Order: sequence, then structure tokens, then C-alpha cells
Amino acid sequence: MPILYLLGTGAAVSDPHRTATMLAVTDETTEERSTLMVDCGGDALQRLREAGASVQNVAGLIVTHAHPDHCSGFPLFIERLWLHGHHTEIPVLGIPAALAQVERSWEAFSQITEEWDTPSIDIREVDYKPEAVMWHDPTWKVTSRPVDHGIDNIGVRFEHVPSGRVIAYSCDTEPCEAVVELGRDADLLVHEATGETEGHSSAVQAAEAAKKAGAKRLILVHLPDGDKVDDLRAAQEIFPATELGTELGRYDI
Ligand SMILES: [Zn+2]
Repeated sequence: MPILYLLGTGAAVSDPHRTATMLAVTDETTEERSTLMVDCGGDALQRLREAGASVQNVAGLIVTHAHPDHCSGFPLFIERLWLHGHHTEIPVLGIPAALAQVERSWEAFSQITEEWDTPSIDIREVDYKPEAVMWHDPTWKVTSRPVDHGIDNIGVRFEHVPSGRVIAYSCDTEPCEAVVELGRDADLLVHEATGETEGHSSAVQAAEAAKKAGAKRLILVHLPDGDKVDDLRAAQEIFPATELGTELGRYDI
């Protein structure tokens, strides 16, 4: 069955116990590698292990956009993958602007890493357009849509092929129709709630998107520093099945 791990739930400035927002989806019942990770603005593989998931099961990494809190951990991701014995090619998926950023960051270490036997990186460019198919195998169909964040950025929708269950992720965005489409009838919508600032959304705006989309459950991530009780209550008045994302939380969908 599909499982979501929240490897990080924080905004660029957040509570001390929350690192940058990163996700992983997996299906422990399949024999094939089935873990797809989203973003690496921190130590993504350390967080994956701490959450209780296996590095050996990583099938690919999606990088949503070029901001440091979403992709600056890329060289460490590749180093750790290698040191954990992952020697096969690693697919890295994203839109051109995000992929260019991670390729530059990896290149910055090239004098050192050319001596290493790190897995080769299979860069898979995704069109910057609605309903772009990022990944399709017997476990997951993944599509993306441009969202409204000031720089090129995508939200992602994971459809678990065997069960038809859906996990959607808004990524960083102002309220926009694309998020509603991503979250359409989703079993779980993971939505940012940085606050009502340029390129971001508040908890209430996330709740409005979940309601419009007909999602079943809303998890708030990319959380700012400080008390969020009032924001959560206000969001729950609009969409009762709203909760704050739990750092390293496991969600069986
Ligand atoms: Zn961002």
C-alpha cells in the first residue's frame, strides 16, 4: 500500500525541530524499488533512514525548483547514495530550471568526486506544462503542473497504480487553479502553509484549495516558526480534516 513519509516539514525559517520540506512516497509491498523522493533541501537520505525507510529502495529523486531549501542537499544526496551501496544509475527528475541548479551544484564538487565511484545521474527533464508525466511504472504514475511561486516551480501528483490512491503535493505556491487540479479527489493533499506572502499560501488558503479539490485529508507543511494553533483552527473551520505535518511522520494512505 502507498505510504508517505514527511522527511521535513519546515519553511526556510521554521521551528528548531523542523528541517526543510522534503517528502518520500513508497510501497513496501513491491519487490521493485518503489521509493520516490521529493526535494533535498536538507540531508534527505539521513531523514529517510530516520523515518524508518530504506535507502536501497530509492527509485528516483524529484527536484521541484531551484531554491536552496529545496535542492541544496543534492551533492550530499549523491554521496550518501553511493556510500550506502547504491551503484546503479539514479534518475533525477525535474523541470529544466531545477535540474540545471542541481547539475551546477554537483559540478562544484567535480574535482573531488571524479575519483569516486558514485552512481551515474540520469537527468530526466520534464516539460514545464500542466499534466506533464514525470514517471510511470507499475507502482506510481506521477504528473506535475506549474504552480505560482515567482520562479519556475511544480506541484506533483502521485497516483498509486495498484490501488488508485492519490497523494498530491502543492510545493511552494500562492493559491492557484493548478493546485486544485493537482489535489482533485486526492486521498491526501500535502500543502504548504508558509503564510500569506508573495509566492506562498496561508493555512486557510491551503484549506480552501483542499475543499475546492475535494481532497479527503490535508497535511500542512513548509511551516513557519512559531505558534500555529490559531492558523490550524482557522483552516479546520474551512476544511475539518486538516492537520499540521509531523516531522518524520509516516502516513499510510
Ligand atoms: Zn521556494
